[in-house]
This record gives sequence, C-alpha cells and structure tokens, in this order.
Amino acid sequence: MIFSDNDENKPSKKDKNLKKMPDKTKDLEAVSTEFDETYEKTIRPKTFDEYIGQKSLKETLKISIEASKKRNVPLDHLLFYGPPGLGKTTLANIIANECGTDIKITSAPALERPRDIIGILMSLKGGEILFIDEIHRLNKVAEEILYPAMEDFSIDLTTGKSQTVKTMRVPVQKFTLIGATTKAGALSGPLRDRFGIIHRLEFYTPTELQKIVKRSAKILNAEIDDEGAMEIALRSRATPRIANRLIKRAGDYALVKSDGKITKKTANLALNNLNIDALGLDNTDRALLKLIIEKYNGGPVGVETLAVALGEDIRTIEDVYEPYLLQSGLLMRTLRGRTVTKQAYEHLGYKIPAGLDNGQMGLFD
Ligand code: ADP
Repeated sequence: MIFSDNDENKPSKKDKNLKKMPDKTKDLEAVSTEFDETYEKTIRPKTFDEYIGQKSLKETLKISIEASKKRNVPLDHLLFYGPPGLGKTTLANIIANECGTDIKITSAPALERPRDIIGILMSLKGGEILFIDEIHRLNKVAEEILYPAMEDFSIDLTTGKSQTVKTMRVPVQKFTLIGATTKAGALSGPLRDRFGIIHRLEFYTPTELQKIVKRSAKILNAEIDDEGAMEIALRSRATPRIANRLIKRAGDYALVKSDGKITKKTANLALNNLNIDALGLDNTDRALLKLIIEKYNGGPVGVETLAVALGEDIRTIEDVYEPYLLQSGLLMRTLRGRTVTKQAYEHLGYKIPAGLDNGQMGLFD
C-alpha cells in the first residue's frame, strides 16, 4: 500500500547522508583517514576487461547482456551478495556501461518513506539501471512497492484517506534492478524470488589481488615490483577495496622513507606500521580471536557475548569481521557459537591445546 497524499515523489534528502553500517573496508581504522573519493573513482574498473577475477560471474553477465541486447529488452533483475569491498557496486556500474545505459545508485536506508522509492522509480528512464545497496534493509512497504515495479513495470499509488481511498496503477519505464547485499539470507523470500540472476561474489586469490594492486599502482603512477604487489595482496583480506587502500599507504610510506618504489621490504614495513599482520588481520580481528582463546578456551561463544566484550555491534561482527576470519580458516561458526581453529592459535603464537585438531583448511593453505 502506498499513501502519497502530499505527493512529494522526490527521493528524500537523506540519500546524501545514508546511515550506513560500519564497513571495515571503508573505515579500516588505520587506513581510512585520508582516503579520497576521487582516488576510488579513478581506480574503479569501467569495463569487464579491467575487472579482475570473478570469472564465472563475468561470463554469465556477458551472456545475459548480449541476449538482452539481441532481444531488445532490459536485462533481468540481478542480486549480488558477498562481503563489502568485493566489487558489487563496481560491477553494477560496469553493467550499465556495457549496456550503454545510465545508473541510479541508492541504498535501502535512504528509501525509508514510500515517496523515496516511488520518486526514484518514477524518475527512471527506459532501460536505466537502479542499484540498491544493502537491499536486505529495505522495509516492508518499500518492498511491496517494488514487487509490481519489478514484475510489471508499474506501481500502485494510493491516494485519499480512509473511506475515500483510491488505488491507481501507474506505469514506470522498463528498468533493471541491481540489488547488493552482504546478507542474502536476510532478504525476504518474495523479494529474492523476483531476481532473475542471483550471484555470490567470491573473495579474491592473492594472484588476482596482485593484478589489482599493479593496475592501481600504474594509475597512481607508483612504482611497484611483483613482490611488493604480492605482499600487499596477501595482506588485503582477499578484498580489492582494502588492497587499493593499502597500496596508497605503502606508496606514501615508500616515498617518505625510501626512494618511492614499493618493494616487498617497504610494503612490509608500511603494513607493519599500520598494525596489519601477515594474514591481513588488524587489531580488532586479533582482539576477537584472542578473546575467544583467552576468556573462552577457544569457544564456543555466542556472537552477542563477543559483541559486548569488544564494544562492537553484532551486525558489524557478523558482516564485516567474521566473513574473512571464517574464509581464512581461523574461526568456525557452530550451532553453539564461534570457535577458533588450530590455525588461529598458531597464527597468534599460542600453544595449541591438546586434542584440538579440527583440520580446518585456510584460504592460503
Ligand atoms: P562493494 O560494492 O562490493 O562493497 P565496490 O564495488 O565498491 O565493492 O569495490 C571497492 C573497490 O574495489 C572499487 O573502488 C574498485 O576499485 C575495487 N574493485 C572491486 N572489484 C574489483 C575487481 N574485480 N577488479 C579491480 N578492482 C576492483
């Protein structure tokens, strides 16, 4: 149901001040301060060729784009999920570019009131792409407005009050919705079912990240050798956004402390200086693992308890810190809570308790 009595169908000003979840890749303590949006824009890949990794996803998308061009219909609605910084927004921009169309970018928390989403839907031009970040946070009313828009390219507008209420079906231009989420499981079933293509973005391998680092270095005019690029790659939590930030910091460090060239040695010193260890963990990651080891005998311990002890909220732990710790085999999620693995004891220099051999394989094994 949509109540649009005052008919201000413009997106709210809140768009500009989205209340977003803390994002480790965005506010990574030591590397965020001087990060500059222009830099991110400059290095953001604009074509599939520049977009490194995610091979099978790229192939699927290329075929879908080609087919939609041949049929002269908009691309199916797409849902991308995976931890922050893996390239969901970048991919949406590339798709718009490859389809030769414009893209409107927003985020679920900015679509709080019915008129926010109605305004955006009505402003779309034919074939345009609507990108909604954090789509799992869309409220029920906004979701219900989206359903007919996604299925039949129309919205139901309700005007008047109580007895005089009238519903009108109003067409909107044909568009493609691209949703991005860090939590596919949190999406409602009916919303998920309306996406034609659902795809998970994978963490990147060190070799892929090394390529990303070298590409960004080139754009930044920073000199880097293969080993220096690999050092940064290995310590970037398998995440391009972090790799791009670290390269900037390593470049600054190399410039100030040596001849400007990023080598394995300067990269190593720069990252140590940022308290980022050999696996890319920072102080909070280590604090989380140490807490489980020292206070809870390695676990299991509930995420609520961890959140209180670390002074973080549960969502940040689940969406930002845990995915990489799970992926790299340092942490396990069990029905009774979180448990650290043998690798975590080893990595942090603790004696492995007798009998602990959970055989969990890590990302870099
Ligand atoms: P997400 O939307 O998943 O949080 P973004 O699309 O904003 O992530 O990506 C973060 C940054 O990482 C981008 O600015 C881009 O420069 C870089 N990036 C992401 N994926 C790739 C990739 N596959 N190849 C090269 N750079 C990438």
